[in-house]
Amino acid sequence: MHLSTRDNETDRRLTLLVGLVVVAATAAVSASTMIASTSPLITPLNELSVLVMLIFMSAVGTLVNTPVRIRSTGHSISWNETALVMALALAPTSWVVLCTAAGVALASLRLPPIKLAFGVGKNVLMAVGAGATLHAAGWDGLSGDPWLLIPPLAAAYLAAALLDEALAMPVIALASRTPISQHFRNNLDLRIAGYLVRFCVAIGSLLILEADPRLLLAVPPLVLSLHLAYAGRIRQRTEQQVWQRLAQTTDALNVVELDEVLTTAVTRASELFSADEVEVELRETDRVVRGGGEGVSYDGPADESTTVQGAVVPVRLEGHDKTVDVGMLRLRFRGPVKLSEREHYTLYTFASALCTAIRNAQAYAELARVAQAHAHDATHDALTGLPNRRHLLDAGNDHLNQRHADGVTALVLIDLNHFKEVNDTLGHTAGDQMLAAVAERLRAAAHAEDLVARLGGDEFAVLLRALPAPAVAAHRAETLLAALHEPFDIDGMRLNVEASGGIAAAPATGGMVELLRRADVAMYQAKRAGQRLASYASARDTADLGRLTLGGDLTRAVADHEFTVKFQPIVELGTGKVIAAEALARWRHPTHGMIDPLRFLETVERSGLLPAFAEAILDQALIAAGTWRDAGFDVPVAVNVSPRSLLDTRFPGSVLARLRAHDLPPDRLILELTETLTLSQLDVVDQVLTRLRDAGIRLALDDFGTGYSSLSLLSRIPVHQLKIDRSFVTAMESSTEAAAIIRSTLDLGRSLDLAVVAEGVEREAQRRTLWELGCTAGQGHLFARPLPAGTLLAALQRGTGDRTGCLAVALHDAGAVVRLPQGRRQGGRGRHQPA
Ligand code: C2E
Ligand code: CA
Ligand code: CA
Repeated sequence: MHLSTRDNETDRRLTLLVGLVVVAATAAVSASTMIASTSPLITPLNELSVLVMLIFMSAVGTLVNTPVRIRSTGHSISWNETALVMALALAPTSWVVLCTAAGVALASLRLPPIKLAFGVGKNVLMAVGAGATLHAAGWDGLSGDPWLLIPPLAAAYLAAALLDEALAMPVIALASRTPISQHFRNNLDLRIAGYLVRFCVAIGSLLILEADPRLLLAVPPLVLSLHLAYAGRIRQRTEQQVWQRLAQTTDALNVVELDEVLTTAVTRASELFSADEVEVELRETDRVVRGGGEGVSYDGPADESTTVQGAVVPVRLEGHDKTVDVGMLRLRFRGPVKLSEREHYTLYTFASALCTAIRNAQAYAELARVAQAHAHDATHDALTGLPNRRHLLDAGNDHLNQRHADGVTALVLIDLNHFKEVNDTLGHTAGDQMLAAVAERLRAAAHAEDLVARLGGDEFAVLLRALPAPAVAAHRAETLLAALHEPFDIDGMRLNVEASGGIAAAPATGGMVELLRRADVAMYQAKRAGQRLASYASARDTADLGRLTLGGDLTRAVADHEFTVKFQPIVELGTGKVIAAEALARWRHPTHGMIDPLRFLETVERSGLLPAFAEAILDQALIAAGTWRDAGFDVPVAVNVSPRSLLDTRFPGSVLARLRAHDLPPDRLILELTETLTLSQLDVVDQVLTRLRDAGIRLALDDFGTGYSSLSLLSRIPVHQLKIDRSFVTAMESSTEAAAIIRSTLDLGRSLDLAVVAEGVEREAQRRTLWELGCTAGQGHLFARPLPAGTLLAALQRGTGDRTGCLAVALHDAGAVVRLPQGRRQGGRGRHQPA
């Protein structure tokens, strides 16, 4: 609608403009008779022949031109001014004006009437203007000094040229709907040079004429060759600009958002091909985008609603090899248009670039969709759709880190009592239904700013944000528990659920991990005391090590060698042979006794004492490996590495120095890395790991499957070994998901030729299943708990049955017929060592 009104408007203005020019020209014709003329030089010649010659000159000046296409409007650069100035020098102005009108009209007979009228009007005005200027400049005939002749002729020529530009430009701009300034700048240098040359030709011809009219015969070939050279230059220049613009356009198409690609394509193509409208049609999605230089005017399903009637140039959007075809590109013009060969070629190149850009953008959108789905899966619980523990930790930490967070933050932990009985007596399906229903009730009872999460099993958590006062937390927790009070309708049975809750307010330090721990402590207090709900009280928190470790204990622990190491053997699943041992840190605290690493590691990592701690552990691990080797058991030792150590460029040097000091070859040391964001993102980590690996140290990826970006990390830092996280082994028999993760980890291990160690093997059945799946190595309480170095050595020496160095009977000795999975047959018995 818009467009068409504007177009009628344009047409109206165009007619008006041309009308004005014609009226002005008519007035000018009568005025021209008043311009005083000195008698022309060629008085002896008969008047008719002068008239014919003038008309002829004017016609030729119009006909010899360089065509230029802007949209569907053709324009040309011609020799009008040259013909005009020569004529004015030879004949009275009034004659010239009439003959120009006649000549231009003759030359333009084949053009549409509006163009003819405009051409005649414009040239008449030019003739009158130039004639008046010539005589005002004191022209008095061709006779005399050529130097006297040039200034008035130059003034007349200038007047003609200026009038030409001033009259033509608005019309071109209006007809092609492009800004005037653009036409003014377009090839300005070439245009000025052209005017100069054409002026020289006029003067030269006049001088020749004065000297010997016969020499005039040489003028036409001269004009023609000058003209051809000029036209060539213009064409070459235009071509260059087109290629540059094409290159810029294909660059601009190089974006990943489909909408942006289509907008860019439409606007740029309309400029590139001077089209009145550009249309891109995407076949697969039945989407059409239409527009011009100002942007997109239509975006929607394919329809017939284009407003540009005239020529259509369609191109298929296909790749260079023509195998893919995403749709159509259409250029529309208001008038008839014939594209040059070069334009066709440009168009195909553009279409092929657009095809690639569209396909890239589509692929990117698909990728983004998949990534988003994965991100959702990774942070949500599949059964209930609630955020999972990781999401709760991340979102909670984000919230706690916002220093200006309004109000009080608290966490309510809810644990269902006797849920196991539901599972055992009614089956897992009923259990799952129950969990989903509990989730739904909690979600409904929570406020909008609360975050309800399922931590796993029958444990839920609700993060209460923006509480007006700490006391409100208990009230809100009551409401949440009350929501579970009504019986649940599961498979037609009405079941009651009992739940316990623990409440904790956000601590000053320690973030979500500490908040979760406190809520957990509170919940166990509630269970022990037989209450439904308890709030965290630090006095009753015997496990509050935070205060302890920060209070200077750590420095003493390092100085007094309170950190010791226990070793847990890693066993070849099939034979029971010990193939490595993992060093696990312990803190022998003078008053608290043995403390497990998970309770002090975070503090150590933050304390600045990490290098000293890591060195103490590494030292003890290497000493132990040395004693085992001396006793005939050349077992490599695996040491856990904090992600933070990998940010320290001195770390590899220090490890290698320890190896040398204990005279142990690098391949006897396995470093276990945990996957974290830090690991996969920082260059310094790459450097550190590459140095360690190049030195011959073996690398293992710990807790595989639980981390952030296992695969991207693997592609950058090739490790030797994967350790399947204990949680998957534990859940292997009850969860198909866990089993699938184990299977794909083993597949990955096989295809990348990595050893895979299963952690947390506690039962013989797990060992066998893992082995049958093709897992060669395992570690867990089934074989041994973490032991002091000497105890492990004694166990190795004792062995199992009569086999020293073994901690379990071989699987085929157990009497079962074992089907060897494929991976084991090719993966090889050869790979005895996990590293
Ligand atoms: P991890 O590397 O995954 O170590 C395995 C953990 O699982 C050990 O706990 C081990 O005692 C335990 N475990 C082994 N087999 C079984 C089993 O069959 N059942 C069960 N329930 N547990 C089993 P631990 O010793 O408490 O170590 C916990 C974590 O602390 C380790 O996890 C490791 O990430 C970290 N860690 C331990 N020592 C060090 C150390 O020297 N430096 C660093 N940076 N981290 C350490
Ligand atoms: Ca480990
Ligand atoms: Ca682990």
